[in-house]
Amino acid sequence: MYPNFQDLNKLIEQDLHEKKYFSKQSWSFPKQYNGQKVYDVIIVGAGHSGLALAHQLRLLGIGRILILDKQSIDKPGPWSSFARMEKLRTSKYSQGPECGNPLLSFKFWINSLKGPNAFEDIDFIKTVDWANYLSWFRDILKIDVVSETEVLYQHWNSDANSFEITALNGGKDKNYYASFLCFATGMIACGGWEAPSNLVKNIDPNKIGYAWKNIDFSELSGKTLAVIGGGASAFDNALMASKHGATCSDIISRRKIPDGRPLSEKLWLGRSDDQIFPDEETYPADMTNPILRFTNTLEKDLYLDVIENFFLDGRTTSRPEYQRQFQNIEGLNVYDGVGEIAITESDDKGKYRIKSRLGFDKTYDYLILATGPRYDLALRREYSSISDEILTWGDINDKIKLFDIEALPKLTDEYQIQFKTDNPAATKLYCLTDFVHLTVGIPALANVVEKISRSIANALYLDNSKKIVAYMAELNNQEETCDDSRCS
Ligand SMILES: Cc1cc2nc3c(=O)[nH]c(=O)nc-3n(C[C@H](O)[C@H](O)[C@H](O)COP(=O)(O)OP(=O)(O)OC[C@H]3O[C@@H](n4cnc5c(N)ncnc54)[C@H](O)[C@@H]3O)c2cc1C
Repeated sequence: MYPNFQDLNKLIEQDLHEKKYFSKQSWSFPKQYNGQKVYDVIIVGAGHSGLALAHQLRLLGIGRILILDKQSIDKPGPWSSFARMEKLRTSKYSQGPECGNPLLSFKFWINSLKGPNAFEDIDFIKTVDWANYLSWFRDILKIDVVSETEVLYQHWNSDANSFEITALNGGKDKNYYASFLCFATGMIACGGWEAPSNLVKNIDPNKIGYAWKNIDFSELSGKTLAVIGGGASAFDNALMASKHGATCSDIISRRKIPDGRPLSEKLWLGRSDDQIFPDEETYPADMTNPILRFTNTLEKDLYLDVIENFFLDGRTTSRPEYQRQFQNIEGLNVYDGVGEIAITESDDKGKYRIKSRLGFDKTYDYLILATGPRYDLALRREYSSISDEILTWGDINDKIKLFDIEALPKLTDEYQIQFKTDNPAATKLYCLTDFVHLTVGIPALANVVEKISRSIANALYLDNSKKIVAYMAELNNQEETCDDSRCS
């Protein structure tokens, strides 16, 4: 039933040739500035979001697209560095960057590569397989990525009538121009990985580990470890330490860690008739897609109600499977609901004492913070020309206090950044980033990418419409000189 890998590649190439997908041309009129090409769209970030968007834009006939990414070519996103879990957290059935084309799906890829039952045999997708699949996806679709190129700055250049983007590559700055710009810069698109200052104020922050940085786990053999945080990453790191021989890996969480299935999974239930809900008269089924797709069209207060419920248990909750592992492996412990903690260096030199007002008090050899990102646009250089002008949730939300939601941009329902002042870049600057407006990971991809690609194509068409009409008139006025047999 599944083609072998070579045949799959051939099938895809043939299908895309028929769609004229590989054409280097674009229906928009070419633009130049100071002798330099102006791209139709530049996407910052070559993770699955950036790749999926580039592909959808190409399918819409937009050819001048470039992706810039600061990481090396086969290692975008977190998959090959600090995503320490063996398997993805999201369902293997989530639609991914293939956006509805089964030939491009993870399922076809793995079945063609490893045998027809490979997909059925896995419970969750292995992280390493996901990274390899994304490299294949990029290559088979011939998506142009300039890697090891960090976007430092961008602004709207009125003379060029386009964005001017300054990026650092091989120690040198280079400028790129684009009519539309989309940030697909991942979880920290609107902030950065930063340790909460109250946790590190009494210790040397350089001596501890962070879930978002490299850690030499082999050095933890025979040591006692505390991992601070209650999300899935805390579990990843504690398990990794345990595998490397840490004598104890304790997770310490200020709040209670929810047990049971994450909300996102409960919302997905009922998708198939043999699943948990007994009848369709009583329960609604599979709300994930409509929530991810349509929430940003709701009026503000309702929108915030959805977000509040969606993230009530945290941004990346741990799975029940993790919690079972913790019950079964000696040396792995969870202390949750301990309240605010204070960390100090213990009297016992080189050790860390963790105390809470609710009575928690233990001492460890090593610490890892898995406390998640901090959202603050000022932390991002790419926004420095506009960060004061961007409309954020903080400007309009007096309803919920969740994470640092007030620091996040309030996008339009087509995922454009909005400005508090008149800005010529308004409607041309898009944000396809994890966690802004429920664009949460793989399950959101197809829903969001489709909207953004259509919005950009529509806007590009409007920009070009006068020229398109003039071109049509020119063609109508042309003498028929074609001697090709197709013209007769
Ligand atoms: C530990 C961990 C585990 C996760 N597990 C899952 C999971 O199982 N399922 C799931 O759906 N999601 C998961 N996520 C969320 C995950 O981050 C996203 O789903 C996924 O990586 C988002 O893809 P993306 O393309 O939007 O961003 P990313 O994959 O993060 O890619 C963004 C890219 O932008 C580039 N970039 C950023 N800034 C710049 C700049 N200034 N210039 C140039 N390039 C730049 C980066 O180099 C990066 O390659 C996890 C996240 C973490 C941290």
